[in-house]
Amino acid sequence: MLCEVCGKQSTMLRVVLIEGSELNACPECARFGVERSPKPKATSAPVHISEAMERREKRTQTRDVLVDGAEELVPDFHVRIRKARERLLWTPEDLGKKINEKKSVILKLEGSQMRPDDALIRKLERALNIKLKERPTLASAPRSAVQRGLTLGDFMRIEKK
Ligand SMILES: [Zn+2]
Repeated sequence: MLCEVCGKQSTMLRVVLIEGSELNACPECARFGVERSPKPKATSAPVHISEAMERREKRTQTRDVLVDGAEELVPDFHVRIRKARERLLWTPEDLGKKINEKKSVILKLEGSQMRPDDALIRKLERALNIKLKERPTLASAPRSAVQRGLTLGDFMRIEKK
């Protein structure tokens, strides 16, 4: 099985509590968590392996995003859309026509009830001459994903020295 913390193969995984999540950890990593009594046999095995891989993958992706500085939809996209539209003196309907979307789509976007996908973002950016995607900073990035990956990873790296 794979250690869910460092990703190494290990036959001696233990369930420990790290940062509020139960993880299967190898003995090396288990030191950093609070040990839990092992779960009944029925809940272990194949499911856990795929789960571990998935979680590990997510963590890796999160780190990649930060390293590459990939652009992400800004949190205040709805404000930017509305302000830019009003500056042009367009009604939501006008904007809808420009980008081939229904007025209801524009209203949902401006009401933050809908996140535009990449294609829609590009159309909006072009029509309104604004930017809706930016490189995330640590402060604005979603707390859950980024901080998990970072703190846990950095923590391990420091501890191993
Ligand atoms: Zn480990």
